[in-house]
Amino acid sequence: MEHPFSKMTRRQLLRTAAASALLMEIPNVSGCSSLPKYQPSGVDKGKSLYVIHSDVVDVVHGVILHDRTIAVRDGYIEAMYDQIPSPREGDLILDLKNKFVIPGLIDAHCHATMPGESAFNPSGILTTMNQLKRNYVQQIKHGVTTVRDMGAMPKVLHDFIAQIEKGELTGPRVVYCNSFTNVYRGHPSIDPADVSIFLPMGAPLTGDMNLWFKDTKELAEKMRENSSRGATFIKLTMDKKSCLAGKSEIPVYADEHLNMIFDFAQKNNLATSGHVHTKFGFDRALQYGIGSMEHSIADAVLTEKEVAAMAKKKIAIVPTVIIGQMLAAPEAYDELPPKYRTDFIDREMRIRREYINSLLEDYTEKSIHERNIAYLKTYRKYGLDNLYQKGKYMANPEIYFNILLVGPRNLMAMKDQGILIGCGTDAGVPLSYHGTLWREMEMLGRIGFSNSEILQCSTINNAKIIGMADKIGSVEVGKYADLTILQENPLKNIETCRNPKLVIKNGEIYDLGKIKFNV
Ligand SMILES: [Zn+2]
Repeated sequence: MEHPFSKMTRRQLLRTAAASALLMEIPNVSGCSSLPKYQPSGVDKGKSLYVIHSDVVDVVHGVILHDRTIAVRDGYIEAMYDQIPSPREGDLILDLKNKFVIPGLIDAHCHATMPGESAFNPSGILTTMNQLKRNYVQQIKHGVTTVRDMGAMPKVLHDFIAQIEKGELTGPRVVYCNSFTNVYRGHPSIDPADVSIFLPMGAPLTGDMNLWFKDTKELAEKMRENSSRGATFIKLTMDKKSCLAGKSEIPVYADEHLNMIFDFAQKNNLATSGHVHTKFGFDRALQYGIGSMEHSIADAVLTEKEVAAMAKKKIAIVPTVIIGQMLAAPEAYDELPPKYRTDFIDREMRIRREYINSLLEDYTEKSIHERNIAYLKTYRKYGLDNLYQKGKYMANPEIYFNILLVGPRNLMAMKDQGILIGCGTDAGVPLSYHGTLWREMEMLGRIGFSNSEILQCSTINNAKIIGMADKIGSVEVGKYADLTILQENPLKNIETCRNPKLVIKNGEIYDLGKIKFNV
């Protein structure tokens, strides 16, 4: 990914910094927005919402509970009935007429404060801010009621979370890590100061994406500071190989760093989660017993023994195979190298093309998507080996094509050994937009998961991975009233998850047809 500020002249940068400062000073960023506010409906505190004639999908057992009434009070599922209770004054009845109810979906890997942009347009700061808001709205519109944010601009994130909590912005519940914890110049391996001497100016407004540390003292300080700002997990990056085209090795943690990090996580009850694209990263994540591996391994077919070791340590995975598909850019080649011409990759390239050529107006600001498409030409213009030297920070498509080659096989082996598998988009990365969890869900189907398994990955498994299985991930008494209402039975047709009819988050009803997104 090209760093947002890399192309700025000094004047542009000062203007952008001023605009950012202005935005940050306005408590409600939506004051600058073209997105109208939307207020969900619901019942008053102490009153009940009865969701009647619900065909509830029991995701744990993969069966439908026909014609239930879900009683919701104060944001929680209070009871489930076979009959329709008689309402009292102030209660509300919502008749689903036998539509299907799944638990609110969970995107277990996304970057809520990244705009999905390959290169930043310095004059487009308002477009970027609108896109960030759109990120949250789109998740709700596509049935996602909880996201796990994997790091980007923590100060901006906190501002948006406050807006969601105050009802000023439509968006999901967010659990977060604030920033990546890694060694100086570790992944994503771009030092802002390399890009521009002015770039560090933006950090006081946005917060640091990377908690880069130089020694153990700095590591201890930064971990303490980060966890004091509400993080529930530590985001690590385990690979020695850069994801950027034209760059190879990057620095990695020393063992003493990892010992400190895992010790800190344990003592402070924090989960750990690590970016892993390589066997090197897999081995280290395995050695330290990381909570969840993120993404898929590109450079090795894991042995049965290795997968068994992962299962034994109860390490979960959020494979985000769809980001493999998005960043496996055929635009980088005159002709796709023969090893990548498999039936599976052929089909994925077709689906990728259809997706990026489709009407994405709901998901993304038009200008952002257009710039992303135009930017793909950069691969050929400079050549893969030269991109980094030219200051073009583009994803290395070889890594992502290799994910498509070996990732599915590794994932099926993990499934066979009972490893907990989640579901996430990596949205916020160039070309991957928020609200597209259905794309990863359908990708899992093409890899060989049943519809029932796909629903588990995107609900209860994700809830376990983010440590909230007592609150979310299934439609059960005592959990948050997070419900996504679908037209058809998703156990038979998973594509019905593309367009939910209604979403309920914490007992509040979002009538999706009434949420407008465009100017
Ligand atoms: Zn990510």
